[in-house]
Formats: sequence, C-alpha cells, structure tokens
Amino acid sequence: MNLILVDRKDFTAPSRVEISGRRFDHIQKVHRAEVGDEFTTGMVNGRMGTGTITAITPGRVEMTVTLDQPPPPALDMTLVMALPRPKMLKRILQTVAGLGVKQLYLINSWRVEKGFWSAPVLEKEQINQALILGLEQAKDTIMPQVFLRRLFTPFIRDELDTIAGDTLRLTAHPGGRAVCPCHPQKSVTLAVGPEGGFIQREVDTFEQLGFTSVTLGPRILRVETAIPFLVSRLFA
Ligand code: SAM
Repeated sequence: MNLILVDRKDFTAPSRVEISGRRFDHIQKVHRAEVGDEFTTGMVNGRMGTGTITAITPGRVEMTVTLDQPPPPALDMTLVMALPRPKMLKRILQTVAGLGVKQLYLINSWRVEKGFWSAPVLEKEQINQALILGLEQAKDTIMPQVFLRRLFTPFIRDELDTIAGDTLRLTAHPGGRAVCPCHPQKSVTLAVGPEGGFIQREVDTFEQLGFTSVTLGPRILRVETAIPFLVSRLFA
C-alpha cells in the first residue's frame, strides 16, 4: 500500500480522517506508524496529498489530510477483455487499475466458461475491492469503470464502434497479422482474449470493425503478463 485511499465515510471533520480495518492493520503492522508520521493519501476519485498521523488508538488511526495534488494521468486506453477465470480476475483487476486503465469492458467470448459469469468476484463490492488494491499500489485515486457484457454479439454490434471512436483499434492475438506497434501516440482500444484465446471468427469480427490483430511474438503469455507487456509497448 503506497497510498492510503480514503473516502467520504472516513472524514470526521473537513481535513481529518479516522481509519480502521485493513488500512489500519497495514499502517500498524507494515509501516509501524507513530504519531507524526506522514503518508501519501488520496481521496477516492479525488485529489491526493499528505496525511499526518495525529493519534493512534486500538483499531483506529487519526490523520489530518492535505489533498492538494492531482492524481497521475490516466492511461489513454480502453481495455476490452474476455472474462478471465475468477482467480485470475482479481489479480488482473489490480494490475489494470495499477496501470491506469479507466475503462474496462469484461466481455463474453466463445472460450469463456459460462460458469465464470456467476462467480462472486463479479459482485460490485469485490470488483471495487480489487481495484482499490491496484490504486493503493500504484498511487492513484481514480476508480476504473468496469462494465460487464455477457453477450458478445450485441456488444460488438451495438456498442464497440462508439466505445472505440477515433482510437487506434487493436486485438491482441498471438497469430496476429501485424506486430504490436510501439507508442503509436494515439488513444487505443485494445481487445484481449481469454485463456484459450479468441477464435478466428471473433478476430475476424473485430477486424470488420477496424481492429488490427497484433502479436507480441511467438511466446504465448498469460493475460496478466500480456496486458502489462502490451501497455508498455503502446505507452512506453
Ligand atoms: N492459445 C491461445 C491463443 O493462441 O490465442 C492463447 C491465449 S493467451 C493465454 C490469452 C490472451 O493473451 C490472448 O488471447 C491475447 O489477447 C493475449 N496474448 C497472449 N500472448 C500473446 C502474444 N504473443 N501476442 C499477442 N497477444 C497475446
């Protein structure tokens, strides 16, 4: 946790917060905090700055906060990702939030197991929890928006063109027809496949909407590895 993320509920006065639970445990056990210590602090969907500990009581830390700095710039990329298996999804949500993605569409595709759609990790509370861990790690405050799209065809037919707008449209696919570009200096809409990959018909459907299928080379990477690799090429 490199930033203490606070929200409205934590405020006891205009520039004073009281923190308990997981964040308190972290401040106590990992940072071994004492009165007077300062921490990078940020308001969910707001500004960031410094929090100074003014009191520590059993189960609670009190801080005065000065939130006068903007969060880091967002990544200029919308991510369209086939729903991964639940265990992976938690980690991928953290990674995606940490990288600065602010719009994530989780979509169905042929090789997504139907059962994944009823996993508890898709509950709003659990998605938010994973995103918060990513923001705390990366020192960001702006929550990504996550959209669930359980039907592939209506999403592609009715929504994707508007979502992608004037961006560079790419589908990450090991057998892609082009090499993934390096910092194209354009906003990007990137589609990433499921564990078993997109089927050719899906790649073709993306292509009909102007998505170029791009490869990172012959190594097949896990989604959680492919995404940071793609981001670092596109936005180095
Ligand atoms: N057997 C699958 C295939 O050949 O498509 C592998 C899927 S891979 C585990 C999951 C997703 O990560 C892919 O659908 C793609 O979006 C991305 N990916 C992984 N390795 C890649 C590579 N070398 N080039 C481009 N995308 C890759």
